[in-house]
Amino acid sequence: MKKILFLFLTLAILSCKKSEKKETKEEVVVVKPTIKLFPLVGGSIFVKKLEAFSQDTTYTGQTKQFTDAYYVISHPKGNLMWDAGLPENLVIPEPFHEPSGVFAIQRPDSLTNQLKKIGFKTEDIKYIALSHSHFDHTGHANSLKNATWLVQENEYNAEVGDSVKTKNPALKDLIKVKKLNGDYDVFGDETVVIKYMPGHTVGHQVLYLDLGLEKPILLTGDLYHFEENRTSRGVPSFNYDVAQTLKSMEEFEAFAKEKNAEVIIQHSPKDFKKLQNLLKN
Ligand SMILES: [Zn+2]
Repeated sequence: MKKILFLFLTLAILSCKKSEKKETKEEVVVVKPTIKLFPLVGGSIFVKKLEAFSQDTTYTGQTKQFTDAYYVISHPKGNLMWDAGLPENLVIPEPFHEPSGVFAIQRPDSLTNQLKKIGFKTEDIKYIALSHSHFDHTGHANSLKNATWLVQENEYNAEVGDSVKTKNPALKDLIKVKKLNGDYDVFGDETVVIKYMPGHTVGHQVLYLDLGLEKPILLTGDLYHFEENRTSRGVPSFNYDVAQTLKSMEEFEAFAKEKNAEVIIQHSPKDFKKLQNLLKN
């Protein structure tokens, strides 16, 4: 009898617990997807004439070491590559001094080898998005011909559009194209968002990443090339529209503040290390 009573009580408690659960069932539980970010080095750029990164003579006589980062973002709905480093023919033992006399450039390794080190193959990349179409961001883009290229429509038209006389050869094999007009939430869950920040080029964009870390991350593209550019709002000499660039900088800073984001300047070796440390924790 005692046993039966005990069983009855246990069942009563269990059913009570069950109904409690039922009541909370309606609550929306937000399960954040697991997103991983892999920063990779797509090149080394030694700037021999830093004045190229100003509209005036501020940096005349100065030099600076840049890195040239690109990134793989692994999301349950697919992998995105952000930027594409320097061309692979720059995987050479000594830096190449290009004809303008501004840069000495070199790439440490091929895309295939670099992806292999983080457990990926080129076929694993579902989307490719470039901050913009300059040569130090389009390097290995053609190797990702099966990926869908996420590009602002105006940038696309300027680089490979029907009316363009000389199409950008670095992008010619990107056949699958999704043309964007403004910001774009890549996976539809606000974790990986392309932000339209034009000016450096006609369709320049930056990348917002919510990896579930203490702070979200904002990759600058070439809105800024180095730290002083950000504090002094420096615009390089090679730039599509100065006023538009300055407006984008304002919007970028307001957005970074709103999101309390960690800003990573992609060409900054210091920021590359900072990002690596953030990802370790
Ligand atoms: Zn660049």
